[in-house]
Amino acid sequence: MSIERVAIIGLGLLGGSVGLAVQAQAPEIVTVGYDRDASVRKKARELGLASSICDTAAEAVHDADLVILCVPVGAMEEAATEFADHVRADAIISDVGSSKQSVSEALARALPGRTVIPAHPVAGTEQSGPDAGFASLFTNRWCILTPSADADPSAIEALSTFWSRLGANVELMDAQHHDLVLAVTSHIPHLIAFTIVGTASDLENVTRSEVIKYSAGGFRDFTRIAASDPVMWRDVFLNNKGAVLEMLGRFSEDLTALQRAIRSGDGETLHELFSRTRAIRRQVIEEGQDDERPDFGREDHD
Ligand code: NAP
Repeated sequence: MSIERVAIIGLGLLGGSVGLAVQAQAPEIVTVGYDRDASVRKKARELGLASSICDTAAEAVHDADLVILCVPVGAMEEAATEFADHVRADAIISDVGSSKQSVSEALARALPGRTVIPAHPVAGTEQSGPDAGFASLFTNRWCILTPSADADPSAIEALSTFWSRLGANVELMDAQHHDLVLAVTSHIPHLIAFTIVGTASDLENVTRSEVIKYSAGGFRDFTRIAASDPVMWRDVFLNNKGAVLEMLGRFSEDLTALQRAIRSGDGETLHELFSRTRAIRRQVIEEGQDDERPDFGREDHD
């Protein structure tokens, strides 16, 4: 099964990056883009996010070997329904959504009997929209595929090859397990950032200008994550509710234990934890998921 034509539905950070990455890394594959927002389509044409940009989803998926939905997870079913009657029967349908169980169910409802292989490239930034995309977003990042047990192996193979060509390392995982892993590595960290930034801005005895002025003490790093797209993150929490609540329970217990250690002056517990967490940061760097420069080691991808 070879992929020669890809339709990208949704042309924001992820969709735009897929289009640019294909053009840079696999230029013989034709990319066709669609977004429901006319101003996004206009911008996408100006930026050349795909070989061509269509004004309807039906046109975009016409004759595509692979369709990738790059819309918020709560919009997957509606977006898939829009092109369901126009996509080739043997096309592979995939997505980039941050939660996988609910998206798999939504796509199965919208596209009964079709070859659906859900996927999640674990790569992103706090930016959104068509200007935010860049070709190297997936380089050396993981892309997790969550095919159902009866999925066509040749479709899994074709999708894995596609993502590898964009620079990603591909892993297969059960959708439920994916949602639990991502709850702890991505969704809870975002929830903590949203909370701490919200809490700081609501304080009465510390002014907002002080919070911003002295933000280099740690707060500013949370503000980067807390600046992420509100629609995307609302949908992630509504769609990965079970796993997030389960992990949040564990997190609250650990936070309570820390609270107790601080109250009782238990420096040993604090020191032991902080030493373990410092070692985890070293592992993240050693595995190439960040570099050791400050400011989160982010490169200027321009
Ligand atoms: P984004 O920059 O906001 O782009 C999403 C685009 O999809 C918007 O232009 C949106 O238009 C459009 N859209 C919404 N509903 C649509 C529909 N029914 N048909 C066609 N287009 C539609 O968001 P993103 O960051 O690329 O996220 C896209 C997906 O990637 C999400 O599922 C997210 O969970 C996943 N993801 C994100 C990251 C990240 O770091 N951002 C990382 C990995 C995976 P409107 O503005 O008009 O709604």
